[in-house]
Amino acid sequence: MVTVSRTDTPTPPSPASGGGKKAALAKAKRVVVKIGSSLLVEGASGALRRAWLAALAEDVARLQQRGQEVVIVSSGAIALGRRALGLPPGALRLEEKQAAASAGQIRLAHAYQDALAKFGIGAAQVLLTGDDTESRRRYLNAKSTLMTLLGLQAVPVINENDTVATEEIRYGDNDRLAARVAQMVSADCLVLLSDIDGLYDADPSTQPAAKLIPEVREITAAIEAMAGATKSADMGTGGMITKLAAAKIAMNAGCAMALADGRKEGPLAAIEAGSRCTWFLPNASPRTARKNWIAAGLKPSGTLVLDAGAVGAMARGKSLLPAGVKAVKGDFQRGDAVILAAPDGTEIGRGLSAYSAADARKIIGHKSGEIEGLLGYRGRDEMVHRDDLVITAELVAPEVGG
Ligand code: GLU
Repeated sequence: MVTVSRTDTPTPPSPASGGGKKAALAKAKRVVVKIGSSLLVEGASGALRRAWLAALAEDVARLQQRGQEVVIVSSGAIALGRRALGLPPGALRLEEKQAAASAGQIRLAHAYQDALAKFGIGAAQVLLTGDDTESRRRYLNAKSTLMTLLGLQAVPVINENDTVATEEIRYGDNDRLAARVAQMVSADCLVLLSDIDGLYDADPSTQPAAKLIPEVREITAAIEAMAGATKSADMGTGGMITKLAAAKIAMNAGCAMALADGRKEGPLAAIEAGSRCTWFLPNASPRTARKNWIAAGLKPSGTLVLDAGAVGAMARGKSLLPAGVKAVKGDFQRGDAVILAAPDGTEIGRGLSAYSAADARKIIGHKSGEIEGLLGYRGRDEMVHRDDLVITAELVAPEVGG
């Protein structure tokens, strides 16, 4: 028997590069599942739907056993907290919603912890605001926490940090939050579980002839118009418009997205079996989308001038180490885009710097093992990790050892 460790797991083919819609979930390496409030919380009583959650945990366990990584983005805090605090039915003021979210979130997190523990899976709560996915530094922190959790085979359970989010930094809907998370962790599949089984060409609640669109490859004006026409009874804030906004973010990040009915137990198994839903399929893989973003989507705020040895290492697809950098130009923060230049100053590539310009100046020319002594903290060994860099010039790889 051959045992394949996590890190050796071969990358499954990108859903966009073939394998079909059905395979997009079964073959994804990293999956984000978004759960709407109406699935998890009984509308009339405000009680948690424990049997549904237990079945979802079983779904998640099956994916994990196949070596897939799963992130959950769950709504339901406000719906659960409303009952816990005895708030009246009907519209709530923002501060009442925030209070409800704070009382409900603790219950929500507990519910996931219990449900996943039955399958030996550890749950980890992550609360994010709009700011965390916009501001570079917080984005990187959130990303590395999520990647670390996934590496430890825990399932991050994410919600918006409703109690601290002000109007300006609120997502307000978890559809877009889930898509941002999918982009952040380079997920190849996002599943939005809702109370509707997909995108229709007209509102199915008022027009019985409305047809479900099984596959969307581009979000055109016609598709946007269809979304505007459809209402979802989801207790959360997201209607079809936010689902489409999520689809745009996901597709741009090279992530396939399924919009599916989550009301029946075991919704992920149902999607894999080919149940009705709408698939939004991107043209590129998450990796290509990210590389394009680094190469063309970001304005570089500085330059790292490499020595000849480092240029050779770049050509062989290696990461850039501090030892191979001769000079640092400009002012940039950790995570900012920088130009990678040959010793004569010509651009050979672009990447995201793991260090600020100030810290980079202190460690260039030094071995990675010396970083902690020089900076007083243990950062990454690489100045620019190979996943974060793109070669934009034609480089000839020198003979190894030659
Ligand atoms: N964060 C909110 C909650 O947990 C829900 C937002 C949404 O459903 O989109 O209740």
